[in-house]
Amino acid sequence: MILPREKKLTEAQLKEVTEIVESFNCKLQTIIGTERSIYAILGDERSETMVNRLEGLSYIDRVDRIQTQNKLMSRHSDLASHKIQIGGVTVGEELLVIAGQCTVDPKNPNYFIETAHAVKEAGAKVLRGGVWKPRTTPHSFQGDNRSIETVLEARAQTGLPVNIEVMDEEQLAIAMDAKIDMVQVGTRNALNYSLLKKIGSATKDNGTLVLLKRGLHMGKTSEFVSAAEYIVAAGNPNVLLCPRGTAPGLDGYRNHPDESITPLLKEQTWAPVIVDPSHSVGRAVYVPFCSAAAIAYGADGVCIESHLDPQEGIGDDPKQSVTPEVLKNLIVELKGLWSLRTKFQSP
Ligand code: PEP
Ligand code: MN
Repeated sequence: MILPREKKLTEAQLKEVTEIVESFNCKLQTIIGTERSIYAILGDERSETMVNRLEGLSYIDRVDRIQTQNKLMSRHSDLASHKIQIGGVTVGEELLVIAGQCTVDPKNPNYFIETAHAVKEAGAKVLRGGVWKPRTTPHSFQGDNRSIETVLEARAQTGLPVNIEVMDEEQLAIAMDAKIDMVQVGTRNALNYSLLKKIGSATKDNGTLVLLKRGLHMGKTSEFVSAAEYIVAAGNPNVLLCPRGTAPGLDGYRNHPDESITPLLKEQTWAPVIVDPSHSVGRAVYVPFCSAAAIAYGADGVCIESHLDPQEGIGDDPKQSVTPEVLKNLIVELKGLWSLRTKFQSP
């Protein structure tokens, strides 16, 4: 990582630095943070000559060679001061609630619009809704391109920023055209490195946030952080980590609840953690417990499936969506738990 003396390099300085880095067969990636810009050297950073030449430039303070695998995501990276903002919330400073239906039903778009108003009233700051769905079988409903219009209409009516999942480049391009505020990488794609790179570069200049779900079969905490490193290394530092349960282990829960990973993530990385209790426990009745545990463990927010009338929904909604009324009471309780986060902060 190249640390200039000022907060960012001028164009001429950037050109000079890029030429040096490229002459050593590395690539320079600029990552624009809120506090300062970061210049990451991608490739083999060990060349002493390259480091010496860069450190010899009058406008360079030093070249930091953080020895961790995830040098951009590291708590010790200069990106640690980067602040992510959405829906009027500076993430980490107050509770961020993302809520909305699992799936937009193209046959009942009005439900989504009405749910959007109701979750806003309940206190959600970002609206979620699946336009395209990763389904276990190809015979299940896969989503519908037309639903993006419904999501945009809900955004226009409520003023809430919106989150949708993208699974491939075509969907990513549609989401970028629609200026979607937050794209979601689902659990199944959390290890799809080429998609992570494409998402990072498509979103690097337009302020789009990326909600990265934890992979269903991910093991070590660092594997999750590395997936996020791909997005940041491609240029976008606006990444939120989303534990959502790993492969099933407890009878009764859909997946194995993993909200206890938050303190471990906080030790390794500066990135905010937004827990998804809905996919973790998989039943509406358990969602409040898991959400409360998530905040107690230090999460910066939650992503909750909510539907005006869950039984009328499709996808996961009938099973795991809470009503906006339940959501509203839950948000009050979660705000009450917020101070626990700071009481038990990770070392
Ligand atoms: C979803 O958010 O509806 C979803 C499919 O998420 P996940 O990738 O966590 O299963
Ligand atoms: Mn879902």
